[in-house]
Amino acid sequence: MTTADVVVVGGGCMGASTAFHLVQRGAGRVVLVERRTAGSGPTARSSGIVRLHYSYEPLVQLAARSREMFSNFEQITGATADFRRVGFLLLASHDHLPALEANVALQQSLGLKTSILSPEDVWLLDRRLELADVGGAAFEPDSGYADGYATVAGFIGAGRRLGLQVWENAPALRIVVESGGRVRGVETSRGLIETPAVVVAAGPWTPSLLEPLGLRIPITSTRQQVVQLALPPGFGGLEMVCGDLIQGFYVRPETGGTVLAGVLAHDQEEIVPPDEFNQGVDFNFVETVGGMWAWRFPGAAEARVRRGFASLYDVTPDWQPILGPVDGLDELFVAAGFSGHGFKLSPALGETLAAMLLRERSTIDLGAFRLSRFAAGQMIRGRYAQAILG
Ligand SMILES: Cc1cc2nc3c(=O)[nH]c(=O)nc-3n(C[C@H](O)[C@H](O)[C@H](O)COP(=O)(O)OP(=O)(O)OC[C@H]3O[C@@H](n4cnc5c(N)ncnc54)[C@H](O)[C@@H]3O)c2cc1C
Repeated sequence: MTTADVVVVGGGCMGASTAFHLVQRGAGRVVLVERRTAGSGPTARSSGIVRLHYSYEPLVQLAARSREMFSNFEQITGATADFRRVGFLLLASHDHLPALEANVALQQSLGLKTSILSPEDVWLLDRRLELADVGGAAFEPDSGYADGYATVAGFIGAGRRLGLQVWENAPALRIVVESGGRVRGVETSRGLIETPAVVVAAGPWTPSLLEPLGLRIPITSTRQQVVQLALPPGFGGLEMVCGDLIQGFYVRPETGGTVLAGVLAHDQEEIVPPDEFNQGVDFNFVETVGGMWAWRFPGAAEARVRRGFASLYDVTPDWQPILGPVDGLDELFVAAGFSGHGFKLSPALGETLAAMLLRERSTIDLGAFRLSRFAAGQMIRGRYAQAILG
């Protein structure tokens, strides 16, 4: 039998960041258990977009602190997260402008660099864009994208140098709780780890792990597709991340003169079992997203499909994560349900959760993200129909 001061379940970006920050803050013996290999889940498939544009202040704060950490990732971990500061442009129709302006005003009130652009300003940024349907845009010059797997590897590597124990191929089978509701350990495929504190960051697998404790975690797994397009010769590269509220898709630069594109929301999410879903891309999806790309960048309408894949979002009813302690179960913490936008929040969330576990002060209040908000009817609502934008 092993003992630990804290066990973190799940080696995606959230578990890796939390485990790193725990050892960095001197939390004692910390063990991260991962059922496969660290970073092999949805984190590795993330489009990795890092932006600040949210409607809700704690999310803006988390995104801003995370972006600062992505920018300084080498100093923090000694490794690269491959953060590319190419800028983030969010295109909006006239109808979207009030929400867009309110969000930009919120970010500006927090001292963050972002602005509203007119269609003419957008044209000066990239003259290849079709702007007939655009009423305006938000632009964040310091945002961009980073790499999911590299981020996990950076946190895990730095954590191990500080004493973090990482157990790969060691699924947590159950969280052991005493009759009084106090956490006693984690039973894994490699035996019991006795611990007084557990963080469950198991993404789409979180509900099944916690169900035996009588907890109903409202997370569904949905299949999400991404397509990689090779741009035609002579078009040049895409120079920034572009979100398109009007058509409902996003696109970001990828290596080798290609781009990655996905949708901002489906009319109907495709709910799937997390261990059994089609990891390929559907031709209908390729056609739909290819059509959106071709409309927005008519000079690159001849882009060729290079490849595509599907992974999972762990979606909650309000598309916001479940964070913090679970009522009635002492020292059991959850960090899951990131609903397709958790990567950009993970550095700061790991830091904030570590502070919470160690009873240290944190400037970011996670109270609104508690599990009990669903039963209490206190869901978090953003300003857009696409809840993924927060
Ligand atoms: C296609 C796609 C595009 C995305 N694009 C963006 C984006 O542009 N920007 C952004 O911010 N976010 C994006 N996201 C979302 C973001 O990637 C996720 O929110 C984030 O990676 C979630 O990290 P996580 O650590 O919570 O979960 P996961 O990556 O799901 O990790 C959970 C880990 O827990 C492990 N696990 C599960 N059960 C157990 C168990 N019983 N015992 C031990 N280990 C267990 C799993 O193997 C897995 O490694 C995207 C996601 C997808 C799928």
